[in-house]
Amino acid sequence: MSAFIITGAKVNGEVQGDVAVRDGVIVDPADLPAGATRIEADGLVLLPGLVDLHTHLREPGREDAETIESGSRAGARGGWVAVHAMANTNPVADTAGVVEQVWSRGREIGLVDVIPVGAVTVGLKGEHLSEMGAMAHSRARVRLFSDDGICVYDPVIMRRALEYVKSFDGAIVQHAQDLRLTEGSQMHEGEVSAELGLTGWPAVAEESIVARDVLLAGHVGSRVHIQHLSTAGSVDIVRWAKSRGIHVTAEATPHHLLLTHEEARTYNPLFKVNPPLRTAEDVEAVRAGLADGTIDIVATDHAPHASEDKDCEWASASSGMLGLETALGIVQQVMVDSGLMTWKDVARVMSHTPARIGRVEAAHGRPIAVGEPANLTLVDPQAPWTVDAAALASRSRNTPYAGRELPGRAVATFLRGKPTHLDARFEGAFE
Ligand SMILES: [Zn+2]
Repeated sequence: MSAFIITGAKVNGEVQGDVAVRDGVIVDPADLPAGATRIEADGLVLLPGLVDLHTHLREPGREDAETIESGSRAGARGGWVAVHAMANTNPVADTAGVVEQVWSRGREIGLVDVIPVGAVTVGLKGEHLSEMGAMAHSRARVRLFSDDGICVYDPVIMRRALEYVKSFDGAIVQHAQDLRLTEGSQMHEGEVSAELGLTGWPAVAEESIVARDVLLAGHVGSRVHIQHLSTAGSVDIVRWAKSRGIHVTAEATPHHLLLTHEEARTYNPLFKVNPPLRTAEDVEAVRAGLADGTIDIVATDHAPHASEDKDCEWASASSGMLGLETALGIVQQVMVDSGLMTWKDVARVMSHTPARIGRVEAAHGRPIAVGEPANLTLVDPQAPWTVDAAALASRSRNTPYAGRELPGRAVATFLRGKPTHLDARFEGAFE
């Protein structure tokens, strides 16, 4: 039995108060036993534990790049209490057996709740629907399905998938990328790609799939979630679809909120992502879309890669960058410190809403209130730190932020009342 009290933190960045925890549940401070641990948190912000809808853990298959354990540790350090693990592992998470294995390994480690996302199609091949029902009814209770990394390109397969998930209130999570329009693409198609002579990935290749899929979701009366929205046009399409009552949700990544295609001029493959970094106007539109609720959530697209897949020429490097440990600092810098959002909004886009979209809202994304599970993230918004790639918990080192200063960070994370990450200042508090 454990009991502690966090004193003086601003809950959701708003009113200062004390939050008491006993046996994993938030309780009235009067119900704490004598001698409970005290966490002095004046000047800190207490958020509901963060929930990531888009994480690559690489296990099974690429444990050299990340394991469920190293990814869970990176998650806890970044303030996350639950991460949705993408299906593009080896073997692919397209059966009840694989998703149960990932789910139970996450429980064993116990640092974050690992919630498997099932593949939409067998082997991510885009040809035959996976065993979605079996995954939904497995112990992993899969509700989200994605071929992430690859677009579900065939409109008939997409339609059938949308129809299928309705029976258990699931959603299809789409990596929107027209495969034909992006053949051989290396970066955003625009001025910079023209100057560098790299094959472009045009904005329309994302927007045309977003448009098709919101129309299909509307037609079928099902839920679609668009991953890593990256263009101004995609934001407009989602805004239009929502105004028509279509059940579409969307996410933005920290890197699409911060970086532009100008980074490609460095030829540093750490900046190579899919979808690619876009223009300054796109970044502005994604920030505005997140601030006004068109884009529902921030999701990391944490994509660890072993050094041999990144320490090479731009053209042959894999796409993707680490995200779990830097996301909160970037969101603070870009959205909070800029005045576009409050901490309460951060709680919405990084905890409440992702938990709802993932249908894990019974356990996560709960209000910070008596009787609720103590899944909590304590943030120090005034603790600037310099990203040190070598010090990250991830097994991989592919962060483009090494040497960059971020304004704040998670200083403590609690999963059902258990500290899963504690900054040096709190070390020893729970011994
Ligand atoms: Zn993706």
